[in-house]
Amino acid sequence: MRYTAQGMKSLGVLTSGGDAPGMNAAVRAVVRSALEHGVEAYGIYEGYQGLVEGGQRIRPLTWDSVSGILHRGGTIIGTARCPAFRTREGRLQAAHNLLAHGIDRLVVIGGDGSLTGAQIFKQEWPELLSELVAGGSIAKALAEAHPQLTIVGLVGSIDNDMAGTDITIGANTALSRIVEAVDAVSSTAASHQRTFVVEVMGRHCGYLALMGAIATGADWVLIPENPPPDGWETIMCDTLRAARQAGRRESIVIVAEGAQDRHGHPISSRYVCEVLERLQQDVRVTILGHVQRGGSPSAFDRYMSTVLGYQAVEQLLSPETAGGESYLIGMRENRVKPVPLMACVAETQALAEALAQRDYERAIAMRSGSFRENLSIFETLARARPRPPTAGQRRLRLAVLNASAPAPGMNTATRAAVRLALDQGHRVIGVRHGFEGLIEGHFEELYWMSVEGWVWPGGSELGTNRQIPTGKELYAIARQLETGAIDALLMIGGWTGYESVYSLYQHRDHYPAFNIPMICLPASINNNLPGSEFSIGADTALNSIVLVVDKIKQSAVASRRAFVVEVMGRYCGYLALLSGLATGAERVYLHEEGVTLRDLQEDVNNLIAGFRQGKRLGLMIRNENANAVYSTGFMHALFEEEGGELFSVRQAILGHLQQGGNPSPFDRIQATRLAASCVNFLLEQAVQGKPEAAFIGLERGQVRVHQMEEFPRMIEAKLQRPKEQWWLALRPIARIMAQAGPSRS
Ligand code: ADP
Repeated sequence: MRYTAQGMKSLGVLTSGGDAPGMNAAVRAVVRSALEHGVEAYGIYEGYQGLVEGGQRIRPLTWDSVSGILHRGGTIIGTARCPAFRTREGRLQAAHNLLAHGIDRLVVIGGDGSLTGAQIFKQEWPELLSELVAGGSIAKALAEAHPQLTIVGLVGSIDNDMAGTDITIGANTALSRIVEAVDAVSSTAASHQRTFVVEVMGRHCGYLALMGAIATGADWVLIPENPPPDGWETIMCDTLRAARQAGRRESIVIVAEGAQDRHGHPISSRYVCEVLERLQQDVRVTILGHVQRGGSPSAFDRYMSTVLGYQAVEQLLSPETAGGESYLIGMRENRVKPVPLMACVAETQALAEALAQRDYERAIAMRSGSFRENLSIFETLARARPRPPTAGQRRLRLAVLNASAPAPGMNTATRAAVRLALDQGHRVIGVRHGFEGLIEGHFEELYWMSVEGWVWPGGSELGTNRQIPTGKELYAIARQLETGAIDALLMIGGWTGYESVYSLYQHRDHYPAFNIPMICLPASINNNLPGSEFSIGADTALNSIVLVVDKIKQSAVASRRAFVVEVMGRYCGYLALLSGLATGAERVYLHEEGVTLRDLQEDVNNLIAGFRQGKRLGLMIRNENANAVYSTGFMHALFEEEGGELFSVRQAILGHLQQGGNPSPFDRIQATRLAASCVNFLLEQAVQGKPEAAFIGLERGQVRVHQMEEFPRMIEAKLQRPKEQWWLALRPIARIMAQAGPSRS
């Protein structure tokens, strides 16, 4: 969508309240999108303080001034808490200062306090202007030229505590900091058989604590929305003691800073520690504090904030928005969605009110859809041992295998599936080494403690490979399923895993043993599986790429250099495009778009023009299969030759580092959630004697199951990728952020 600026020349952008990683990406996107529209972008430094002070605190931001900031935490335009802006006097001064630059449109990036302040300012604007005219400090004509203030808000808050958006800028990064810290603490705790109480941020919101607990396999979590029952101290101690007796070496309790009991009394991490000491245990408290706010933003926070910043400008410049209702640009169901700002602020306050009134049911109901589900999954996974089967219950035998290349998060998914099935009274058979193991009958029963500690390591503990069974191997599998008395099959893996399950499904007429429920859980760094917008492992790979590219960029700064970085993905450009967005690459080569000689000629011209004008760094990201002829080596040689004395070129083929590493919190959480849905699906089918074969995924934020027969219809078989790829819609944004061409990148 394109809007003309309609006589408007400038907009302002400010960051306010607590800083959050990703704010810089949003500011950069706002500035570049505005410039793209021919609109001047002013940075308002130090939040509302800058608005009230004016002068040098309000100054234009150029394309270049927001270069090289994507990887930086915090906010380069500063933030502050500003008591003066809470007063009408302060806001009068702010209006005056904005008009001095002809600004009547603002992008405010902050928490609910900042956005409330923005809305008050907007409502008062006409009166403030009348007052300024009456006082003679501005001309009537100037006031008439800016009758309304238009506001668009983005939520910058690490707590993920705002209604109207499923996730806020900074929350993903904060969760990464927490998970890194808890992983680290867990290893030392395990060595000494210690207990750690870890306090995380979240005064009114348990998001970070709960997700952190799921992602780290913690033993106990205390959050404001779900106060424990009276006498919880004993229950907690009993649970931790039982886990130790079952063989767990460490205990981790995560406490949100706003945790409270059912009577509204705060539960401090110190108090939890005292309670646990009664167990005669060696207990330590770690308060993570501001570490959670700091550091380089995750890949997700970089690209999401970029997309939000872009959309904020589109919304701000839309004729429908001008002077009208203020909007918050949020993420809903994995899509950008504008929602009326005031309704979000009101809902956020209503939730805080529900907590204050100890109406916890309502508070949880007001949290996003998966909150309750996640809470219940956590409660099961954290048990010391499974609930015993009920008397007379049919105990099904569920087989679990990993297939295709290893993807970070496979172990997390396997652990969750094993425990959730055991907890429902069933038995789980692990299959070693993918379909090869299924052919050869490498079965091993898995128990609650067999998967202890599997929440965090990358790779595949069960073992995996890419074999797709054919011919006699199918017969062998049928025999193994029969002799192993397998009632249902869960495949956690990528493309070859899907093809294998599809093959079993197709051969049901020949082999009755294949008439059992089967389901595929998407786990592949390539994110190339049908029926899921994300596959497990892709977020981790993206973060690994971004981390390395940050380093590559740093290495190049001193010398005029361009890099061609090759990333994985097979024929799917997800990793290339998203890492391009997250690192500020100026060019991304995708198989989906193809590469032509004319493109390359243009890229050479742009590089030359850019370096002539003083550019010091060029970054091109190429999907490994973008074009068979114009390979990474070819591009490297071409740019090097054409760059001559002006710049040098290096290639970096990132290779297998992209498949390694411990899963990101996002991958761990989604792996757990999907595994829970897979187990429910398989058990339901098996109990009802229905042998449906299916693949599961996340679509628009929801878990969805597709029947296996849909598989061929949803894929481009030769290219091993889905027909529909949601992220292709982000290409224009990547182009705008980078396009500016050589002189400005
Ligand atoms: P956050 O935006 O992270 O919730 P705060 O609540 O501290 O952070 O708000 C940040 C700033 O926003 C405040 O210092 C103040 O300048 C402004 N602000 C917050 N609430 C209001 C309000 N009700 N009226 C005017 N300004 C406000």
